[in-house]
Amino acid sequence: MGYPPLTEILASFFGKLLGQEIDPLKNVLVTVGAYGALFTAFQALVDEGDEVIIIEPFFDCYEPMTLMAGGRPVFVTLKLSPTQDGELDSASNWQLDPTELASKFTSRTKALVLNTPNNPLGKVFSEAELELVASLCQQHDVICISDEVYQWLVYDGHQHISIASLPGMWERTLTIGSAGKSFSATGWKVGWALGPDRLLKHLRTVHQNTIYHCPTQGQAAVAQSFQHEQARFGQASSYFVQLPEAVQRSRDHMVRSLQSVGLRPVIPQGSYFLIADISDFKSKMPDLPGDAEEPYDSRFVKWMIRNKGLAAIPASIFYSMPHRKHFDHYVRFCFVKDESTLQAMDEKLQRWKTELRP
Ligand code: PMP
Repeated sequence: MGYPPLTEILASFFGKLLGQEIDPLKNVLVTVGAYGALFTAFQALVDEGDEVIIIEPFFDCYEPMTLMAGGRPVFVTLKLSPTQDGELDSASNWQLDPTELASKFTSRTKALVLNTPNNPLGKVFSEAELELVASLCQQHDVICISDEVYQWLVYDGHQHISIASLPGMWERTLTIGSAGKSFSATGWKVGWALGPDRLLKHLRTVHQNTIYHCPTQGQAAVAQSFQHEQARFGQASSYFVQLPEAVQRSRDHMVRSLQSVGLRPVIPQGSYFLIADISDFKSKMPDLPGDAEEPYDSRFVKWMIRNKGLAAIPASIFYSMPHRKHFDHYVRFCFVKDESTLQAMDEKLQRWKTELRP
């Protein structure tokens, strides 16, 4: 279920992190990117009429993948606690409401999708939040599909915790990872799912009869990269130590720069995305071109691309349809950019700032 040098190193590398004896033949599946792992998981585990709890804002493919498997997505929205005047918002202020989360579990709930660090918000779920999710999953016998592709990209001393490492969770969790995100090689499309045999055996059936085998060359390269990392784990020479330090500098650069024109960033603790609040623009220039039905953030990004030469993604697409209208005042920026791109962004923002002067 993968090129043996890769399944073996994934088993030994993640076995230590998750505190599990991982069998490369039974507990590891190599897939075409984390997308492949997610798709295989939904096809394998979600049946007609099953409910799947998805935490909003969410990586957009979880909803169609649930639907394609015949399942019903059930959404629970992260609630934003108010910030002090003038203080920048932080992704950690966006929290699960325990009562609301508990109310989403029914006898039909098959799985809950967790994504930490989260795309698009950059939220890193705290241990207390993970314990809440874990206890509800155990209480209702629900599988946790844990998308951890940004696990090495955490900042400001925050810790990524794999929910599978919490007591009683290995048996009901699929931990999904991506070499694209881990080694900054998106196009290689090597991903994996780790989990107990009782879940993985169903993923193996789907995978064997659809993809069968992922290209070997990419797997060999990723195997070598993990072997290299294992020998340097936690040391200054480790890529997993250096990468977040470098990306945090880019995050800080972008956070400082965006504010110059009134885009208010929500500080992410992880991932390589941040969302910025565009409420000021919404009140000052509500009539941007576009269809009246089109959410404001979508009209705003088209306007910004055309007029300012800066690209972002409307954050409302990371919400379920009925909730989109309440979240049309954020846009998502990507800060994993080299220095010259960040400087080009600064120049464009400077020009924009001059135009704002009365
Ligand atoms: N999960 C999340 C949260 C992502 O952001 C992405 C990529 N944007 C993926 C999964 C897919 O990763 P891959 O490129 O390895 O398929």
